[in-house]
Amino acid sequence: MKAFVVEKIEDKKFVASVQEVEQPTLVEGEVLIKTSYSSLNYKDALSSAGNPGVTRVFPHVTGIDVSGVVAESKSSLFSVGDEVLITGYDLGMNTDGGHSEFVKAPDTWIVKKPDNISLRELMIYGTAGLTSALSVNELLNNGVTNGEVLVTGATGGVGSISVAILSKLGFEVIALSGKENQIDYLKEIGAKEVILRKDFDIENKKPMGKERFSGVIDTVGGNILAEALKQIKYDGVATCCGLTASPVFNTNVFPFILRGVRLIGIDSVESSLVKKTQAWEKIANEFKIDTLGKLAHEISLDEIQQAYEKILSAKAVGRYLVKL
Ligand code: NDP
Repeated sequence: MKAFVVEKIEDKKFVASVQEVEQPTLVEGEVLIKTSYSSLNYKDALSSAGNPGVTRVFPHVTGIDVSGVVAESKSSLFSVGDEVLITGYDLGMNTDGGHSEFVKAPDTWIVKKPDNISLRELMIYGTAGLTSALSVNELLNNGVTNGEVLVTGATGGVGSISVAILSKLGFEVIALSGKENQIDYLKEIGAKEVILRKDFDIENKKPMGKERFSGVIDTVGGNILAEALKQIKYDGVATCCGLTASPVFNTNVFPFILRGVRLIGIDSVESSLVKKTQAWEKIANEFKIDTLGKLAHEISLDEIQQAYEKILSAKAVGRYLVKL
């Protein structure tokens, strides 16, 4: 079978290519999926570059997401022909991932495809979409039901899908982006206003700012998250899932103790299969966005490396969908 394989050639030096590799064999409890689609996420790009926080075992097939059809099953939970998807757990980390014609995985990682959504659409969302859905759920479950919501890293995968879901739900979405040339795109997918990163990511010694946002979906961390917390309205909520700006941020207690602001961490990778299944049902129904096509760039295995370079240089927009 064909797969996108990353090899370590010397210390801290990695090369990737599309290769013929052996199809995996199953043990009890495992399922073989014939891949229909996969996707690219920031984490896949880190894995391809040999980031040890993501992948330590090489050669390695990247791809933390996969959708496809069960080709062989040694599990009582899945039968040949079932349409399924996997996002997260160890897929694409130290287990070979979705950038491959076949993927094997334990049945405990697999979600059945919900009705009302295709295998292709599922991978336009992928881990990014699941993370957006979990973030939006936290806002809703914690009383953020209207008003302005700030989305950071807005042209990225998690950012774009969050903008689109929040807009569908009737929020006034304020998109924060470093890309001046993508303002039209952000408005097309649902942003009411775009704030440019250079106007927001400034050193500000004031402990608090003017109250503005009912909620924040932050995908970048660093000073941007710190500044966003200062502008959240009384009783508002911020979610935090990413670190493209920085994993470190300096903040103070005032937003929390004077405005009751809550900061909620999001992890889509190890969240339970029940939680993932519920989120996918929402994605297929009340969170399903009309502008999905505008977010997607369909590529082949041969185009993955080029796309990783765009992701790592922060030039990517929306979601890369990999068609097998
Ligand atoms: P993408 O690469 O698709 O998007 C990241 C976006 O971040 C970019 O498009 C850019 O948006 C912004 N950005 C890039 N560099 C910087 C910078 N130096 N400073 C500020 N903003 C920057 O990534 P994803 O959307 O897939 O993932 C976003 C983050 O969320 C990543 O850190 C990823 O690891 C994390 N993540 C976490 C998950 C979890 O379960 N916790 C799951 C999925 C992702 P713009 O140009 O518009 O500002």
